[in-house]
Amino acid sequence: MCEVIVLFDGYSINLEDGTMKTNCSCTLIKTSKNIIVDTMTAWDREKIIRALNQHNLTPEEIDYVVCTHSHADHIGNNNLFLNAEHIVGTSVHRGEMFYDKNLKNEIYEICPEVKVMATPGHTAEDVTVVVESTVPGKSTCFAITGDLFEKEEDILNPSIWKELGDQELQANQSQWRSFIVEVADFIIPGHGPMFRVTEDMKVIVKDQEIKVY
Ligand SMILES: [Zn+2]
Repeated sequence: MCEVIVLFDGYSINLEDGTMKTNCSCTLIKTSKNIIVDTMTAWDREKIIRALNQHNLTPEEIDYVVCTHSHADHIGNNNLFLNAEHIVGTSVHRGEMFYDKNLKNEIYEICPEVKVMATPGHTAEDVTVVVESTVPGKSTCFAITGDLFEKEEDILNPSIWKELGDQELQANQSQWRSFIVEVADFIIPGHGPMFRVTEDMKVIVKDQEIKVY
């Protein structure tokens, strides 16, 4: 049994005065381990505790925290989870102990259904959490991508992800986006609701790949 539960849908809204109102998607994975992916801003502490309680969990029962990258709207409540191992981008630590996991080059398997892989682009350190959720006879793959995908709309309007990401890593980002739509049935993007990957999307995202010669 492996459940993927979006506790909060991420969003990002450009306000007229140039301010950006934004928060990340926050996702709970319940399997042999309890895993939380992206912990919103520091102002969301009580919201997260309440949402976990609704799923019969306390912060102390979380085994792993994964932050898809280390921007402020993705790491704000890591200190709620002091019994957990923290995977922040490609670095893995528990307190002051930082482990040599080589996440930049190797997939890190938290448990057989949950893997963390480097998908650089938005930042050089970005990771995606890939979850194989199996109900008898059917396996569904969820990719919790952080800002590799900002929201579903950035597939038809790639300027959304291009403007927010590291300019020098745009080709990498375009290639990892293409990889993820091939493997995932559902994508939980950094700043929008979960969406199903369609055959059309695969073609569009593949077409947007920036080749480096
Ligand atoms: Zn973000």
